[in-house]
Amino acid sequence: HENVLHNNFLGSIDQGTTSTRFIIFDGVGEPVAMHQVEFTQQYPQSGWHEHDPEEIIETVHECIEEATKKFTQMGHKVDDIKAIGITNQRETALVWDRETGKPLHNAIAWPDTRTKGLVRELKAKKGEKDLSQVTGLPLSTYPASVKLVWLLRNCPEVQKAYEEGRLCFGTVDTWIIYRLNGGKERNVHVTDSTNASRTMFMNLHTLKYDDGMLEFFEIDKNKVHLPKIVPSSCAESYGSVAYGPLKGMKIAGCLGDQSSALVGQQGFTPGSAKSTYGTGCFLLYNVGEKPVISTHGLLATVAYDFGRNRKPVYALEGSVAVAGSGVKFLMNNMGFITHSHKISDLAASVDDNGGCVFVTAFSGLFAPYWIDDAKGTIFGITQHTQRGHIARATLEATCFQTKAILDAMEKDSGHKLSEIAVDGGMSNSNICMQTQANISGIPVNRPAMRETTALGAAIAAGFAVDIWKEFSELKAINQKDRKIFEPDITPEESEKMYKKWARAVNMSKGWLD
Ligand code: ADP
Repeated sequence: HENVLHNNFLGSIDQGTTSTRFIIFDGVGEPVAMHQVEFTQQYPQSGWHEHDPEEIIETVHECIEEATKKFTQMGHKVDDIKAIGITNQRETALVWDRETGKPLHNAIAWPDTRTKGLVRELKAKKGEKDLSQVTGLPLSTYPASVKLVWLLRNCPEVQKAYEEGRLCFGTVDTWIIYRLNGGKERNVHVTDSTNASRTMFMNLHTLKYDDGMLEFFEIDKNKVHLPKIVPSSCAESYGSVAYGPLKGMKIAGCLGDQSSALVGQQGFTPGSAKSTYGTGCFLLYNVGEKPVISTHGLLATVAYDFGRNRKPVYALEGSVAVAGSGVKFLMNNMGFITHSHKISDLAASVDDNGGCVFVTAFSGLFAPYWIDDAKGTIFGITQHTQRGHIARATLEATCFQTKAILDAMEKDSGHKLSEIAVDGGMSNSNICMQTQANISGIPVNRPAMRETTALGAAIAAGFAVDIWKEFSELKAINQKDRKIFEPDITPEESEKMYKKWARAVNMSKGWLD
């Protein structure tokens, strides 16, 4: 069986916020070839964050070409790749013209806060209605729905396409699948339920579009083409690649990036949790086959939906808007470091944060606070403050928010987590992961192979084409050389740090625009 698995490969497109990758995994979950490219982040105004949809597709092509070239140069055959899966940055909204297949606007990326005013207006309209009972999400600038409403109100071209019934809406998964299939000719217009659960248009309980929600956002479903919602693992709905080195290859898996990381970390049992430290930081906690609607500021979401006769599995989620992007801020805006990985050395150049607390609220604060008008604020600066202190405070900011989310998860679920599995770019920083263990008071468990997000989509595809049939068959995947960070400060010390953070959060609110 092992031999068979070694010769069965699966491809995974991981389209993240800052970069795109294509990774080819073997049947035991080891990456054998990969290529990664960064793409342009556009910030046309303060609080605006866009991606060029065509550039996203170009990076997907480049990654597929380069990784496949490496793969064949190793002596493998393209035919040995049984299917591909897709995982993607979530909530990012795209619109295109059904007739031309061309984008009608840049993609509005998930951290974009241009909808702040619109959200205020929608909140007033909502009154006491609790939309999270239906969608799992609170009203904020985060879901894709508010981004679509903004486009409809502010872009004449989008409006016109809507009135004429030509408007197609989708998240990044939908766009990539549409284009891989060749675009308007085949017109494959689908999404999976994990991605759909982030639009605020989907009913979390039925996994179907909710008429009440569409009405609330004043979206006429006869005027806009919404993608069909299908299971995350599925051999029939996603079509196949229309051109390039993977021409004819079946697309069989699709998961939003955070769901994909949970799958890649094999968080298949209720009570398991993972945290991915990428551009933002996202914790997912598997709650089983029924959604748990949070009363402590978390989101309820579809964890994964493997179709056939399997029930969808839900998660509680805590999202932190700024994690690795805080590191990038120190690099690009402040010039403190020349590479992200140098943040650890800079942080290690001092013993502690020197009294500095940095509330990295560049997009307001997400879970569990949901403060739209919080602004990035550094407290405790003195004559003594060095760059190293700020570097530490930047890493700690994500760790504190993660601790706040873990506390909320404990309250919502009634269980205390015993450990957290981690991955993502910023989890490369040992000092950050040690700090996380110290602040949260539980061990942090990091795999050696940290491409877990990409692995998840490969697993979803693998299930659809019968490489695996039961989750138990995956048990051995990515278990070797895991590193466990144990807390090494006292709970009292940890609590003292956290109290300061909580005070700083309070003081970061309500700054004037
Ligand atoms: P995404 O999928 O959101 O694009 P990744 O998981 O690729 O994110 O992580 C990229 C982020 O991680 C960047 O913001 C980068 O600054 C940060 N990062 C990468 N390597 C390190 C490191 N060694 N230490 C700290 N942060 C890092």
